[in-house]
Amino acid sequence: MTWGPLLRLKEALGPEAELMVVGGAVRDERLGRSHADWDLATRLLPQVVMERARAAGLRVIPTGLQHGTVTVLLEDLPVEVTTFRSDGGYLDGRRPESVRLGVGLEEDLARRDFTINAMAQPVGGSDLVDPFGGQRDLAARTLRAVGDPLQRFAEDGLRPLRACRFASQLGFTVEPATLAAIPLRLGVARKVAVERVFTELDKLLRGDEPHLGLTLLAESGLLDLWLAELRPMLGCLQNRHHRHDVWTHTLEVVRQVPAEAGLRWAALLHDAGKPGTRSTGPDGEVHFHGHEARSLELAETILERLRSSLSLRREVAALIRHHGTHPTEAWSDAACRRFLGRLAEDSLPLERWAAFRLADQRGKGLDLESRLDGHQGLLSRLRALAAAAPPLAVRDLALDGAALMKLAGRPGGPWLGELQRQLLVAVLDDPGLNRAEALAEVARKLMPPD
Ligand code: ATP
Ligand code: MG
Repeated sequence: MTWGPLLRLKEALGPEAELMVVGGAVRDERLGRSHADWDLATRLLPQVVMERARAAGLRVIPTGLQHGTVTVLLEDLPVEVTTFRSDGGYLDGRRPESVRLGVGLEEDLARRDFTINAMAQPVGGSDLVDPFGGQRDLAARTLRAVGDPLQRFAEDGLRPLRACRFASQLGFTVEPATLAAIPLRLGVARKVAVERVFTELDKLLRGDEPHLGLTLLAESGLLDLWLAELRPMLGCLQNRHHRHDVWTHTLEVVRQVPAEAGLRWAALLHDAGKPGTRSTGPDGEVHFHGHEARSLELAETILERLRSSLSLRREVAALIRHHGTHPTEAWSDAACRRFLGRLAEDSLPLERWAAFRLADQRGKGLDLESRLDGHQGLLSRLRALAAAAPPLAVRDLALDGAALMKLAGRPGGPWLGELQRQLLVAVLDDPGLNRAEALAEVARKLMPPD
């Protein structure tokens, strides 16, 4: 949406409304970033906003009257219009006990978390309202709490995590006093509802500079509140295949992988099992035997605790499970197809596996060119094999369960599953066998005697 529809709303509400764009939209407009929502603020009370907007033919939904918020539909886009308000006292470190409507704009801006989020742009002209130096901090790419950070982080424990999230999204640094306040307010941050924590961590991971946010989490101690299992990765040294310790490698992989939730969470968690499986062999070489399985367990534990969706958990598990498979040129076509079959079983598309693997290889920080050449060669081969749409699972067999029972002249039982598994092995080896007649011939040879 552009500013046009906002002007129409301003006209509907009248000049005394002091209609302002506030918060993230002002910040993102000035940074030239796209943003999903427009938050508006006004001096008018919510009932008056509703009356006047409706009188002008706009659709209005009373979404949060007690907080002063109504939603107005502008060109089918919902826009929240909130009355200037100040927050009453905070008792639980989560949300204000009450909100007070009918205050001035400055008080409204003063309750906001960071200076770059505490600017207001009047709709239809005049200058930016910026009482806390938001423009200066935008230019300096700095996150600075509005007012005393110790007090602001005592009011609401989500704010420190939001600082890390904005650092990741915007590539900003946190101003020293604001940063120093975080470790002193971990007790408040601990109380934040897990759903809100997940939302922020997820946004942090999907940001443009996720390593900045993750580094802040680790350095401030926030990591230990929600992702304590990851702490041993810091400083966990690896072997000659890696330039970096496990944590630094992880930050690299998170950064390299496309900014989608499944890939980013998998990148964060894929080597979490390394510290717990680290051993040194007789030759002095460091090993991480079984780390994929351990990482898988830790990822499950963490994502379940954070109440992530089941679909995210499944995708992360699939990526972790297969990240340790390193197909080589020496693999036979049959071996490649068996691998494609395992990916299919986990509903993991080849391209996602490949994107993850590429980032994982890059994150090793060594011998890059030969690794990437190998990766591309291998991927072309896997793609070509997959393009022939070979049978990869029991459901792809040219004879289904019913056909096999008929062929055998006996009812289903454990023998059937075993036979299907053997047939699959045969067609993975030679996809040409996957025609009804040829497969029936193989099946007859494999069928157990009655
Ligand atoms: P985005 O929409 O990209 O997540 P945003 O800055 O718009 O970023 P919102 O959660 O939409 O974030 O909140 C809108 C505005 O409300 C913020 O810009 C900020 O001014 C204020 N705000 C949001 N959450 C808090 C909070 N926990 N404490 C203080 N102010 C907040
Ligand atoms: Mg917003």
